Amino acid sequence: MNRNRSAALYEASREVLPGGVNSPVRAFGSVGMPPIFAARAKGSRIVDADGNEYLDYISSWGPMILGHASSIVHQGVEEVFDAGISYGLPTGKELDLARLIRELYPAAEMIRMVNSGTEATMSAIRLARGFTGRDKILKFEGCYHGHYDGLLVKSGSGTLTFNTPTSKGLPKAMIQDTLVAQYNGVHELKDVFANMGDQIAAVILEPVAGNMGVVAPTKEFLQELERLTKENGALLIFDEVITGFRLGLEGAAGLFGMKPDLVCFGKIIGGGLPVGAYGGRREIMEHVSPLGGVYQAGTLSGNPLAMHLGWNLLNHLKADPGIYDRMEDMAKLLEAGLIDAATKAGVEITVNRIGGMLSPFMTVGPVTTFSQVMTSDTQQYEVFFKAMLEEGILLPPSQYEGWFLSASHSREDVQRTIQAAQIAFQQVKEM
Ligand code: PMP
Repeated sequence: MNRNRSAALYEASREVLPGGVNSPVRAFGSVGMPPIFAARAKGSRIVDADGNEYLDYISSWGPMILGHASSIVHQGVEEVFDAGISYGLPTGKELDLARLIRELYPAAEMIRMVNSGTEATMSAIRLARGFTGRDKILKFEGCYHGHYDGLLVKSGSGTLTFNTPTSKGLPKAMIQDTLVAQYNGVHELKDVFANMGDQIAAVILEPVAGNMGVVAPTKEFLQELERLTKENGALLIFDEVITGFRLGLEGAAGLFGMKPDLVCFGKIIGGGLPVGAYGGRREIMEHVSPLGGVYQAGTLSGNPLAMHLGWNLLNHLKADPGIYDRMEDMAKLLEAGLIDAATKAGVEITVNRIGGMLSPFMTVGPVTTFSQVMTSDTQQYEVFFKAMLEEGILLPPSQYEGWFLSASHSREDVQRTIQAAQIAFQQVKEM
């Protein structure tokens, strides 16, 4: 495939943007090649600057649940433009989306809109501290919650890919109250609470981890989280930036029958526009300014365009919840096809899948902890990624990210992906 135009854009971008990108994972750093630049996309397809077409499994890292450039999500957007796109005043669109989110995700009794997942988690942590009067927070290694200082400790996604799980530039004072334990590490969790339970304001987690690749929580881990936070007066925060409205209308909370004290949403509730939100129990949310003393604000928060697209998406999902089963069916087909292709080629992989998100780890399973994730052979993933790209399949450019299906991924798309995987695993075997 010719990628001269992407290469030229990358060269020019590196001059003016650090690493040529505005978000690190886009640099394709861990797959040892220059990034492809997107030109346009429709449904499950994305076209690069050179006109090459790929079947896309990045899905803008989650929000493209109905596929790219969905006419359902974009419906009525011209009218929003015509009416003006930012006022510095509240609008009915904020109310509409907040009500819809609350209806679908009842744990979010009250909601505050923000502009990104990072803002959502940062604000939820501040609120938890303000509400409980405690400073310490507990997170899990390999979970990524955006780039707020206090959460950029032993995190996942690009921080793992680029070997900076704990960022530079974090003053000690900002992270001394951040405790880190192992995802699914029940004993460690109990120890932390036994030692410091009365100082912990909140535990924050991805209820299904997506930023070290996909790792599901064990039942026991979730039960202990619920019990220990309750018994110790700490808040349980679900970061559903990836899982909210992807694993079902009520996200991971619905899937596991849980009710977090606070929840964070992101990109999905804006249908792909910059947005985020945090919400939760009324008595906690009433501590947010101007009702309470926890300050948090945003000029573009609740932006009408983002609210409009988010409402269109969520309202469609509500009207056709069968989308989740169909997405899962396609993901199951893909999972089985990947395992089959790898086995035939003699390559060891472990596929973790939940709903329409999955990760093939280049390692012998099971993969339920961060240390098991880290046994993956990233060089194998690199060879696999490149071979798939040549076959016209765009995967996340890192072993430590989830693959996301959309409702527009057809059976034929998945079958084509499996055929490509047969070729790609053969190349892995021969490396
Ligand atoms: N939380 C999770 C679980 C995420 O996956 C991400 C980003 N992918 C964030 C928070 C941060 O969101 P944003 O990039 O919108 O700041």
